[in-house]
Amino acid sequence: MKALVYHGPGKKSWEDVPDPVIEDPTDAIVKIETTTICGTDLHILKGDVPAVTDGRILGHEGVGVVTEVGPDCTKVKVGDRVIVSCITKCMECDYCKAGLTSHCQTVGGIGWIFGHLIDGTQAEYVRVPFADNGLIPLPEGVTAEQGAMLSDILPTGYEIGVLYGAVKEGDVVAVVGAGPVGLAAIMTAGPAGASKVIAVDGNEYRLEQAKTFGATDTVTVADGVDVAAELKKFSRDGLGVDVAIEAVGVPATFTTALDSIRPGGRVANVGVHGKAVEFPIDRDWINNITITTGLVNATTAPDLLGKIQAGEIDPAKFVTHRFTFAQIDEAYETFSNAAATKALKVIIT
Ligand code: NAD
Ligand code: ZN
Repeated sequence: MKALVYHGPGKKSWEDVPDPVIEDPTDAIVKIETTTICGTDLHILKGDVPAVTDGRILGHEGVGVVTEVGPDCTKVKVGDRVIVSCITKCMECDYCKAGLTSHCQTVGGIGWIFGHLIDGTQAEYVRVPFADNGLIPLPEGVTAEQGAMLSDILPTGYEIGVLYGAVKEGDVVAVVGAGPVGLAAIMTAGPAGASKVIAVDGNEYRLEQAKTFGATDTVTVADGVDVAAELKKFSRDGLGVDVAIEAVGVPATFTTALDSIRPGGRVANVGVHGKAVEFPIDRDWINNITITTGLVNATTAPDLLGKIQAGEIDPAKFVTHRFTFAQIDEAYETFSNAAATKALKVIIT
């Protein structure tokens, strides 16, 4: 088959590789119909993720058709059209049972994310371990493009942003960063009950997009703008927002999130920070705040599917560009230059 193979920092190629085979009785093989590119793929390609070895097939999002199942698969069947969850999980260890599938002990204590520790979805076929747990049937009426947004991006914004932030009825929510992950948080915060969702970004085009995803207000980051002070103006009594979701991953935006919340408020950090952030505990201990963060578990895809079917959310909005597998280099170029190309999610079929 053909697959996009990582060959060390900055190097990838669309090349012939052996077809994947069933290795364990709980495996399935999926023929990929639709895949996409995530910011994490760009980090891997840059060499920022040390565990990724030469020869790894990239990609962790996608929808396809099951072509083969191992003898211990009881739910998935050949011919099923499925969403591939970005992370594999045994559902038998204590972490999986507690919903912390990203720390599945059976797969080594940190989830096997496709395109990272196991071969990925930017390929004609992918082997899916623990297939009964990692494959979600694509229901009638939900498109492959919508489904592909449930592999990672939508669960990330929802689980680590909205659910960890405990967004509830009436909350005023700030989302710092309106990239795909921030937009996923924006899209799911309204249905969770937020009365206001304020998008923060320096990119005006992204802020326009944010409004179509459900942002009620926006704050533009620019020199001389005190973003936290601007966010407080949207709060009920000027004391601060109830929840600030950090979806950038730089120390300054963590500080913005922290400075914008009210006493008793919550910061849900989703961004992956390459450096330590500052946390002034001497100032903030008295404010009874909550800070959460973590790696996506991708356990909410079935709930999110229900929201799509009910017409509450429509992740088709993420899709800005479409390519074929033969154009995968162009797809990466387009996605890597998002500021110029206005790309959000690029679809590859
Ligand atoms: P992205 O780079 O596409 O988007 C980031 C957005 O932040 C952009 O629109 C950019 O204009 C904006 N931005 C940059 N600097 C800013 C600033 N100072 N203030 C406000 N906005 C600013 O990234 P993404 O794909 O949306 O991902 C966001 C973060 O989530 C990344 O750090 C990513 O690694 C992380 N992530 C975390 C998990 C997890 O499991 N926790 C999973 C996936 C991604
Ligand atoms: Zn487990």
